[in-house]
Amino acid sequence: MTEIQTFLKQVVDETKGTTAKLVAVSKYHPVESLREAYDCGQRVFGESHVQELCMKYDVLPKDIQWHFIGHLQTNKVKYIAPFVSLIHAVDTMKLLCEINKQAMKNDRVIPCLLQVHIAKEETKFGFTPQELLSFLEEGEWRNLNNVKISGIMCMATNTDDEQQIRTEFKTVKQLYDQVKNQYFNDCDCFSELSMGMSHDYHIALQEGSTMIRVGSKIFGARNYET
Ligand SMILES: *Cc1c(COP(=O)(O)O)cnc(C)c1O
Repeated sequence: MTEIQTFLKQVVDETKGTTAKLVAVSKYHPVESLREAYDCGQRVFGESHVQELCMKYDVLPKDIQWHFIGHLQTNKVKYIAPFVSLIHAVDTMKLLCEINKQAMKNDRVIPCLLQVHIAKEETKFGFTPQELLSFLEEGEWRNLNNVKISGIMCMATNTDDEQQIRTEFKTVKQLYDQVKNQYFNDCDCFSELSMGMSHDYHIALQEGSTMIRVGSKIFGARNYET
């Protein structure tokens, strides 16, 4: 087994006994690294740059499920709409409308997660919990037939303070349960809570994550220059 395969297996083993799935976050890593994971059985990969994702989609096997996990610009949705399996970080109605439009052109329904902003640090992206509830209450999203709102995604604060991370995950889990009860009670499609990365997925698994997004723990440090 290669190093990547050893780490991959370790993370997969940790999800056993939970219902969580592993998204192997492969951004900035070469296709050979993805192939090693693929050869070990991994089929779900997460990328956060459209051009890189399209390049990898072209050269790697077609039974891979590609998740887009980063911030998505509306003008780039069209490139991934033909094949993307799940878009993790939808944070505006404008983006959701564009995904719907491009999905329609491709005769598809694209599953999407709504990104909740919970971390203390300054990131521009994601609905606050209050904004998320208002967005759902307004109900415009109900008119979009080519997107399926499948759950919630979040990133915890980048800190060593485990208690803080746990508190944030608990807050998002509560929000997820509330939203599921209030808006998606009649539909099994709302079922994903995407939370947990290399440094905090153990906590996320304990707090109800259904999807962990793990990159550097499996593939090693990213080289941002290549
Ligand atoms: C890069 C990235 C990850 C993976 O981060 P690691 O710390 O390498 O596990 C997870 N989620 C998102 C949104 C990312 O951009």
